[in-house]
Amino acid sequence: MPVISLVERIDALLPQTQCGQCSHAGCRPYAEALAEGRDPINRCPPGGEDGIRALAELLGQPAIPFDPAGPQPKPRALAVIREDSCIGCTLCIQACPVDAIVGAAKQMHTVIADECTGCELCLAPCPVDCIDLVPVADPADGERERVMARAALARKRYDARQARKDRDAADKAKRLAERAAVAAPASSTAPAASQAPTAAASAADKNELIRKAMERAKQQAPVAATASADKMAVIRAAMERAAAMKAAQQEADKDKE
Ligand code: SF4
Ligand code: SF4
Ligand code: SF4
Repeated sequence: MPVISLVERIDALLPQTQCGQCSHAGCRPYAEALAEGRDPINRCPPGGEDGIRALAELLGQPAIPFDPAGPQPKPRALAVIREDSCIGCTLCIQACPVDAIVGAAKQMHTVIADECTGCELCLAPCPVDCIDLVPVADPADGERERVMARAALARKRYDARQARKDRDAADKAKRLAERAAVAAPASSTAPAASQAPTAAASAADKNELIRKAMERAKQQAPVAATASADKMAVIRAAMERAAAMKAAQQEADKDKE
């Protein structure tokens, strides 16, 4: 019989929106902090008071109220993109932890309502501020059963997304490594007579080259992330300039009238 760790049992009680309101990078890190006794059980607003009670029962602690100084539970809202304003930059797709947004570069994007958890993570990256949150009207939406049903779906989609990202990263590292392995012998200046390795030695050299290239690719990942953040800042600045110019133009037009 499989042994389920405490972290997994705690994680199974969390709503899986990956929203970060608990000040962790997702539900699993909060589950780890709870299992290690580093955090109190009242840090997950999407789980609501029912969530606190469930955690209290599992961990044998008293249920405590939400910290008034921290984020509070609120009715769930769904993201909706104003499609006529969307510039197709794809930044919201990159931010959505459950792949609830569809669209392609330079094309209009749309939120799949049934998949959206209302985590709000797509709002900040949108350079034209064209994503609205529309409250869910159904009064039963916050019931524990519904929260847990959505959590199961969100977990599946989040795991699938993580697996895809890992695959993409591995493919990229492999491509870089293969390119480096092909390029390396061509740049060698060793005399031809000394280049008579056995097939086994040649394969070993190639593996070593691939290993080194994969290490280089891994080291370059944080640089790529910084470049992506820089790109977002540039896009934001450009949109702000465009908005300022538009406002100035509208003022000038008003003066002319
Ligand atoms: S749903 Fe709760 S546990 Fe998960 S990231 Fe949000 S606040 Fe943290
Ligand atoms: S569409 Fe936005 S609010 Fe909805 S799950 Fe994705 S990131 Fe969260
Ligand atoms: S971030 Fe905003 S502008 Fe960019 S694709 Fe998403 S909705 Fe459209």
